[in-house]
Amino acid sequence: MVRSIAEVAVNVPLSRSFHYEVPGKLKGQIERGHRVLVPFGPRLATGVCVGFPDESSVPRLKPIRDLLHPDCRFDEHLLELTRWVASYYRSGWGEVLEAALPPAIRAGKAERVRREIIALRDADAMRVEARRLDTRARTQARVLRHLADLPDADRPDSRPRTDRRALLRACQASTASLRRLERDGWIEEESVLDRRDPYAEEAPTTDPREEPTLTRHQDLAVATISEAITAGGFQTFLLHGVTGSGKTEVYLRALRRVLAAGRRGLVLLPEISLTPQTVKRFREGLPDSPTAILHSMLSPTERTGQWKTIQEGKAKLVIGARSAIFAPIPDLGLIVVDEEHESTYKQESAPRYHARDVAVMRSSLLGIPIVLGSATPSLESIDNARGGKYRLLELPTRATPHDLPHTTVVPLDGAFYRPDGSGLISDRLDRLIRRQIQDGQQTLLYLNRRGFSTYLHCLQCGYVFKCEHCDVSMTLHQRARVLRCHYCGHSRPQPESCPDCGSPRVRRSGVGTEKVVTELARRYPTARVLRLDRDSVTTHRALREALGAFTRGEYDILVGTQMVAKGHDFPLVSLVGILLADSGLHFPDFRAAERTYQLITQVSGRAGRGKRSGRVIVQTFSPEHYAIRHAVNGKFDALCERELDCRRALGYPPCGRLAKILLTATDEAKLTGEAERVASALRRSAGATPSRAPDDDDDRPVDLLAKPGGGPGPRVLGPAPAPIARIQDRLRMQILVKSGSTAQIQGLLDRAGTALRPRKGVDVSIDVDPQTML
Ligand code: ADP
Ligand code: ZN
Ligand code: ZN
Repeated sequence: MVRSIAEVAVNVPLSRSFHYEVPGKLKGQIERGHRVLVPFGPRLATGVCVGFPDESSVPRLKPIRDLLHPDCRFDEHLLELTRWVASYYRSGWGEVLEAALPPAIRAGKAERVRREIIALRDADAMRVEARRLDTRARTQARVLRHLADLPDADRPDSRPRTDRRALLRACQASTASLRRLERDGWIEEESVLDRRDPYAEEAPTTDPREEPTLTRHQDLAVATISEAITAGGFQTFLLHGVTGSGKTEVYLRALRRVLAAGRRGLVLLPEISLTPQTVKRFREGLPDSPTAILHSMLSPTERTGQWKTIQEGKAKLVIGARSAIFAPIPDLGLIVVDEEHESTYKQESAPRYHARDVAVMRSSLLGIPIVLGSATPSLESIDNARGGKYRLLELPTRATPHDLPHTTVVPLDGAFYRPDGSGLISDRLDRLIRRQIQDGQQTLLYLNRRGFSTYLHCLQCGYVFKCEHCDVSMTLHQRARVLRCHYCGHSRPQPESCPDCGSPRVRRSGVGTEKVVTELARRYPTARVLRLDRDSVTTHRALREALGAFTRGEYDILVGTQMVAKGHDFPLVSLVGILLADSGLHFPDFRAAERTYQLITQVSGRAGRGKRSGRVIVQTFSPEHYAIRHAVNGKFDALCERELDCRRALGYPPCGRLAKILLTATDEAKLTGEAERVASALRRSAGATPSRAPDDDDDRPVDLLAKPGGGPGPRVLGPAPAPIARIQDRLRMQILVKSGSTAQIQGLLDRAGTALRPRKGVDVSIDVDPQTML
């Protein structure tokens, strides 16, 4: 075959791919799945070769510029998976392929490079080695640049031997001259990956692990999954197990089966649950299986090193966060998605994929089983289980000696917001904390807000200190003496007076973790308090050390945000206090109640996992709200009934499907105009929708996640200002498309076509199955 034309999925937000000429020097080298550099408009872009058409209608094809990373070729399966992701989530195929690569391989990451000439061999070999330091990650990505040891005959004859000394001086001079030398074939670049195990410090203890005897429910779950593994074929299991029911043990046993059969396993975890302790549990449970970890807190070179290890088949088990769903694992036999309800599985920038749903699709394409686990499954998954798409496995009791903790609700009143923070801890919680300290037991306090106070306002004129760039109030960080915007990071010094009326009567309202720590120091001066949030812990190492110290009992009280809420197994924690359970309840988001339920359940689940039984205090302004009542009483089914009723009435997921179109611009008039234009285009497409969804007799892969049956026709709502109407100086409007089925929504977006393209300085982004309404 000649293969003189290549089809390339270019890394641009366009759904179509492009034709290029395969130049002579690359003939026979480029294969389907290879990454290439191509001219695109006035610039160069990266892309992936996805085919070799016989002919092209394009009159003069531009040649492919280069073949990049020939050893990082996408296999057929990943090409198919990424193509589905691109089509379902309305991204460019090239964009998805790019997102599937580890960051150090991706293009366009400007790294600051410091060059040192570290060796200069004899005049004939003329070898120059330079060490490249990735200053951002402060790791050693060693790059060897050397004057290629080519026989004289092959050397570029434009460079006489006598020039070499000059060449070397040039090497020391600038990157540009090195580039020039590289272009002329004098030197080659070779990057050396960091293949060290990033979790080596958490190496499993050498003693053989004590194998727990499975509970009756664990046993049944393992048996059922094992049957599916033996039988082969695609099947989705929803493992609904209360906190501490031993879901990890179930995953481990299922993975053992798969690994014993010579295949590989993938475990997805939310970013914040991917702690050293978690990795250690998996490694100890599967001691003979080399494990690779993909985590965004690893440095780019570490991540690339892990990725290559995976691609070469040297890892039997891959543990990773969201983007690990695209890891190039050969002969994958089982996928596990832990905490499947977590909204962080959804990527909030293009491509806006949901890793859990991509995982289900990946399993279906491979014909392998997948296990989705959670103590609080998403309503989407519950609905799929009820509809028979997923098979439900339940672990209704804890595997540990003590059953679920005893929970008490404490209603709050205005005292909670007293400016001095003295009302943060109710009398009830205070008594229990004192007893914990006396008994040498640990306490975990949860509050979903960083900083000292949520906002600052003027008592004279009512002025609220808002971010100059976003439509949100700024948070006071007392220790740093600044107001900071949690959306864009902008900060300004803590003001002494109101900028509007000049009054010095500026008052702090709302609470954050920093204030809690101050109050704890006042109440319990001897207690050792640890605060964990994104302000206090910014690196992987710091997080690892802090969690380790707390687990070893070096602190009495842990105060934190999301970071402490989930997945952790702290055996010494027997008291959990949720300081403000309804903080997320009044968000303008249809999932607010579901999220509140999940959060209370997850945080409470940290209590009483060790030798002592657990107690939980839930402080709330809304003790009667069903999400809080059901969470406190562990009535998951009741929550589902209630929520499903609401969702059905309003056509929200899982009883309908959504796509959110977000438009942003700096110019308000342009934004409104464009939003109106896009909305009418969508309305026209909606009007053209067939009254019955065509998905019943259509088995395209996209319909795996679709709801069967028609339901009401699609509706287009908006445009309306987004709940946060401005972020980083860009005004935001959104349009919501609601429909009974996935096929309907996809069809509608297809028909709207180019009307959804950005124009006139207005950005348009489409979010299919959005996880947040903000
Ligand atoms: P989950 O993920 O469901 O919250 P974990 O997997 O973290 O629960 O298990 C909670 C604790 O129970 C862990 O310390 C684990 O070692 C222990 N455990 C799990 N299964 C058993 C069992 N069958 N017998 C005794 N302990 C168990
Ligand atoms: Zn004022
Ligand atoms: Zn801001």
